[in-house]
Amino acid sequence: MTSKNNQLSKISVGVLRGVGPKIKEKLSKFGIISIEDLLFHLPFRYQDRTKITAIAALQHGTEALIEGTIKLSNIVFRGRRSLIIKLEDKTGIATIRFFNFSSSQSANLTTGKILRCFGQVRHVGGSPELYHPEYRIFSTSGEPSESRLTPIYPSTEGMGQNTWRNLIEQALNFLSTHPPKDLLANISAELNFDITSALVFLHAPPVNASQRDLMAGNHPAQERLALEELIAHNLSLRKVRDKFQEVKAPRIKDNSTKIASFLQSLPFKLTNAQKRSIDEIISDLASNRPMLRLIQGDVGSGKTLVAAVAALLAIINKFQVAVMAPTEILADQHARNFTNWLDPLGIKVSQLSGETKGTERKTVLDDLKENKANIVIGTHALFQKNVIFAKLGLVIIDEQHRFGVHQRLALTEKARPYQAHQLVMTATPIPRTLSMMAYADLDCSVIDEMPPGRQKIQTVLIENQRRNKVISRVAAACRTQRQAYWVCTLIEESDALEAEAAEKTAASLRLALPDISVGLIHGKLNQNEKKEIMSSFISGKINLLVSTTVIEVGVDVPNASLMIIENPERLGLAQLHQLRGRIGRGNTKSHCVLLYKQPLSIASKHRLEVIRDSTDGFYIAEKDLEFRGPGEVLGTKQTGLMMFKIAQLPKHDLLLERVSEIAPQILKEAPHIVPPLIDRWIRGGEEFGKV
Ligand code: ADP
Ligand code: MG
Repeated sequence: MTSKNNQLSKISVGVLRGVGPKIKEKLSKFGIISIEDLLFHLPFRYQDRTKITAIAALQHGTEALIEGTIKLSNIVFRGRRSLIIKLEDKTGIATIRFFNFSSSQSANLTTGKILRCFGQVRHVGGSPELYHPEYRIFSTSGEPSESRLTPIYPSTEGMGQNTWRNLIEQALNFLSTHPPKDLLANISAELNFDITSALVFLHAPPVNASQRDLMAGNHPAQERLALEELIAHNLSLRKVRDKFQEVKAPRIKDNSTKIASFLQSLPFKLTNAQKRSIDEIISDLASNRPMLRLIQGDVGSGKTLVAAVAALLAIINKFQVAVMAPTEILADQHARNFTNWLDPLGIKVSQLSGETKGTERKTVLDDLKENKANIVIGTHALFQKNVIFAKLGLVIIDEQHRFGVHQRLALTEKARPYQAHQLVMTATPIPRTLSMMAYADLDCSVIDEMPPGRQKIQTVLIENQRRNKVISRVAAACRTQRQAYWVCTLIEESDALEAEAAEKTAASLRLALPDISVGLIHGKLNQNEKKEIMSSFISGKINLLVSTTVIEVGVDVPNASLMIIENPERLGLAQLHQLRGRIGRGNTKSHCVLLYKQPLSIASKHRLEVIRDSTDGFYIAEKDLEFRGPGEVLGTKQTGLMMFKIAQLPKHDLLLERVSEIAPQILKEAPHIVPPLIDRWIRGGEEFGKV
């Protein structure tokens, strides 16, 4: 039986033979401190050294174990010094080559000895060769071979596989005296493995284990651990949520008459998906449990308006609203939209950014404090201590993944003694499975319908050599009053370098197209400069806007119907989709040109083809997850959230269904296992701390 103060997670790896300060430090780089941590460091692949392959049956490119008698052992100098051995079994002869070897090695490997080698086989001129195999010398043949598959561990320099195997073998011995608690034992009956047998299995799988399943990561033993890990992450996010909801929020009552009359004033009708999301928000707001809701919708699906209705309702109920955007361009645009929508109703919209200075700033701050401003729209500036609200009731955060959980929550705390309701909008769709994990702390409304009348964007891949053709096509479009974006990208996240690239491009386009009005916008301009350029573009004074990826998020200029993206291979799919979403917002047919440079890797080509062939953000997000993994899809700030030891998305997607059943069940029936589960799987205890 496990005794509480004698747990594996409390025993340091230092007790193992061979663990001195150096190895201890190397292990700690993997987050391995305790014996339990070590046991959860699992192999990423296996070798089969259980069967001896006949030399005649060796296949090029495979790993194999062979055994034979040394017929010849020679040190040769042909180009470089090497030790060459001819090894013979009943079926044939294989050549073994060592390029680095000690004199004791060569002295041991003498004619007549029996040698068993494991390594990668190459056929050179039709006969098999092994370079630098692992080997053992026997005096007689027929010694028993390994009875289990050989694990290969993720490692680091100076730490060989033998060291890992040795340490883990010792750690496995602890399992009989200190079995880790099988936390899910009473929760899910249909599990094939308990935690101990899953660990034993994965560190030393029996010969008959399916190597293919193991490699693919979906062997039941792996799934057992992955499931537990995903549950732990899910629970830890729920904990964040519970903590958030400990404080009560103000009730914001529905007012169907006023909302209906607002909606009637709009030039369009809501889509059904928008209506549904609004209904969900209205019912959240009516409760004194703080809303934590995510609106997921594809680019252009009309999330902003849904947010505006929520804001209006809060304001009708005499509460203040804060709207936070990731960039100033976007904050500006929201301010314009909200003013258009709300100003006619006598609602005062304020704006606050890092560059709101002097008396203007003082006025905004005073208005908020004295409850004279109903709604403030801004960037990170809204977090600052001296931003004080009289009666904050709702916080709206646009384009979620640019902000960390901490920032999100910090803003709602400005409503004390209440907690403000929180509404979050994503930039692009997130695969459902991923959002189940990354946003387990949020309820989700999905806008899966586009406003009517949108035309599909046509996307083409064009090589940079044909740049001049593209330029004349852009010019022709601009001459017929269409507007275009020309987007410059860089790998490094350097505003300065990106700005420089955009400046150069703008200069060359101005030279080539003297009759076209070319604007330039990038992250190094100040707020007023950016504002001015955006409004010239909106009013049509600028035909062609050269920009960096600053326009990526949210910008809405319906007349722009052409976009050129330079070096699109440098961006992730979600980002490309988001960028492209700047066009296709009006009534004209829109076109997007992905202007790539050769040589393009096959993987990059595939990714660009996904963008070319689809405009469905949900599909593209799934592909992005497949290609780049969860960290990239969610944006760097959230990467820490998705650092799994064992689970892999989307590989383990199917498990997530069970996570969403089991996690609530644990909370209800066995809340006491929540802390040890989180402890076992998440370093630092809470997701929260990692962001
Ligand atoms: P996103 O979801 O990408 O944030 P926006 O909120 O910027 O999209 O909306 C895109 C455009 O669609 C805006 O110009 C907006 O006014 C318009 N729009 C929103 N809802 C509708 C609707 N139901 N019918 C027609 N146009 C709409
Ligand atoms: Mg938006």
